[in-house]
This record gives sequence, structure tokens and C-alpha cells, in this order.
Amino acid sequence: MKTAITASTLLTPLERIDSPLVLIEEGRITAVSSRIETELPPNAQHLDYPELVLAPGFIDIHIHGGSGHDVMEADDASLAAIEAGMARHGVTSYLPTTVTAPEDRILRALQHLGRSISHNRRTKRSRPLGIHLEGPFISHAKRGVHPPENLVSPSKELFGKYWEASAGTIRMMTIAPELAGAPETIAEAKKVGVHSSIGHSNATYAQAVQGIMAGADHATHTFNAMRPLDHREPGILGAVLSEDRLTADLIADGIHVDPSVVKLFLQAKGTERAILITDAISATGMPDGIYKLGAFEVEVRGDRCEYQGKLAGSVLTLDRAVRNVMSFGGWKLQAALRLVTFNPARLLGITATRGIVAAGCDADLVLLSPEGNIVQTIIAGETCL
Ligand SMILES: [Zn+2]
Repeated sequence: MKTAITASTLLTPLERIDSPLVLIEEGRITAVSSRIETELPPNAQHLDYPELVLAPGFIDIHIHGGSGHDVMEADDASLAAIEAGMARHGVTSYLPTTVTAPEDRILRALQHLGRSISHNRRTKRSRPLGIHLEGPFISHAKRGVHPPENLVSPSKELFGKYWEASAGTIRMMTIAPELAGAPETIAEAKKVGVHSSIGHSNATYAQAVQGIMAGADHATHTFNAMRPLDHREPGILGAVLSEDRLTADLIADGIHVDPSVVKLFLQAKGTERAILITDAISATGMPDGIYKLGAFEVEVRGDRCEYQGKLAGSVLTLDRAVRNVMSFGGWKLQAALRLVTFNPARLLGITATRGIVAAGCDADLVLLSPEGNIVQTIIAGETCL
């Protein structure tokens, strides 16, 4: 069946098209034009959103859970709940993100997620694109809430073990570049197409650059779990903010990073290199209480998630992060949308199918108010809300 979507404006997000007409067939976009130049095909189902903005579905490259469940539970029903929750906030694809845990627990999670990614028969739910391995290759000094007893030195061998358990579905790995064995592990990961993201790190500027030279091309939750910026020893933050070879992501909830520093980050990385993540945990979309993050429990009150007095993930949703960038940074919707669509897709090398509204791409779309509130999410051509 053919579907024709019309809206007030399309933000591709690289371009803006007024009165857009987007045609969908079998879950893919077949044509993108304006109603001014193209007539509505007579045999198509017509979805008309005259007041709304049409944009690509959002991609969250760092998310641990939601709707009361964690991606490490290794259970299909839990993943289904998490993915349905994400779809309500415009996230049409994502990287399920593991945390540091005992080795057998990480391996079990990777096996389950790997199977779930390879046999993707989801409908009306956010779809996993691959796994983000966050820990155990991180710094003791900047571990955040990751359990210290399970941190390990990076090695090609251990990475290979994880890679195999995941059936080759790991797409991103957060790693502290200063650790012995990190450059070799980053280079090995790059060989199999895994993006290394520097983070949870106490690296000096020189050590961070070493990680970039080895192949790291991204940075994980900038400012959080990173050696602070000093103007004489800029440290990892100096590299993350100034290096054009790196894209970088941020938790723009106004809690993890002050709104003024969110603005500073946006100015430093710009529309081309900034990416928004949620780092959301199982408590997202749930009332206050005690919730799981990997193998440990986190106390959630209001918008804060804490474990032993430290911030432990968030209950942020990606649509709210977009609105926060508009309010903290004064950015327009089009620029803010790029940070959750085209930029993460480009980092993952998947702009041929995602992160942009163009013929040939998967029909993963959102419809939002001009203020950035999600009204409808479309995944593989099907409306979810
Ligand atoms: Zn995280």
C-alpha cells in the first residue's frame, strides 16, 4: 500500500520544504517533494498534518532503559516495553547501551541483544541498530557509578570476546584513552567498524589525542565523567571541545550540565558535530522510586537519578533534549533536530537509510509541533501513536 504524508513543513533536517509531500511504500520513502509541484497520488492512503512539522525519526545512541526495564535484563518483553516507550518520544532507532557489570552478566546481555538485533521483526517500536558498550574499559577515577570491582584494562582479546558474544552487533564503545591497551583496542574496534567514543576518562590532552590518532571519533556525555577543563592542562575536555575530528554528545537535561555550559558545548561543536543523547535508565517514564541500572539500584526523585550521591543516568527523553537545546542555546528547531537525526546517523555511517528524509530511506518519521512536542511517530511507514 502507498501512503502519502503531508504536513506544514518538512525539516529533512538539512533542508526545509514547505507543504511537503512524502510518499511511502513498503516501509520506505519513495519520493520527497512539495505539494506545490506534485499532486497527491489518487491511490494512496493520505495522512495529513497541516499544522505540524515533519522530520526524521530520532536516533538515541546512548540509552540504558525506560518504562521500568533495563536493556541488560536479557528479556524480549523488557526490550519491547523500552522500545514502545521510546517511540512515544520520537525515537525510532537506538543503540541499547550496556553498563559495567561482572563479565558473565555483560556477555549474557550482549548475546541477548545481538540475537534481538539480528532477528528484527519489530513493528511500531523503536529499533535497535547495534549495541553501545559503555564500560568496562573506563577509568577508575572517572567511573561515575560504574562498579569499581568490574572495571578492567582494555585489550584486543577481551574486546574480541565481547564482539563475538554480540554476534558482531556492537557499533560503539566508550573507552578511556589513557588506559594501558586502549590505543590497540580502539584500533582493533575500528577494524570491525565499531566507533570508539572517548569518555569516563581522566585523560590529559595528549592522551586524548592519542586515542583520536588510534581511531576514536566521538566523545561520550561531554563534561560528565571527564577530567575538568584547565586552561593550562586542557585534558580530555580540551580535546573534545576543540578537535574537529571528533563528534561529541551531551545529556541536555539541565541537570548533568548547566544550561550555560550546554550553550558553550553547542557553540564549540556546532550544528555539524554536536549530538544529543538521553543516557536514560529504566526509571524513564515511571514514578519516583528505586530502579535498576545494569546490576545496581538507583534512587529517582523528580528529574534526578542518584546512586551513592552521584548522578546515575537520567530520565530525560530525546524530544525534551531537543526543546532544551532550543531554550538553553537559543537554537531553531531545524538546527536542534539535526543533533538527534542526521548527526548520529552520519557518525554511524547510515545516512543512506536513516537520519534524513530522502527517497530510499526507511520511513522512520516524526511529526512535531513547532515548539518540538511529538504528536506522531512513524516507524517503517506505520503510525505508532
Ligand atoms: Zn550511560
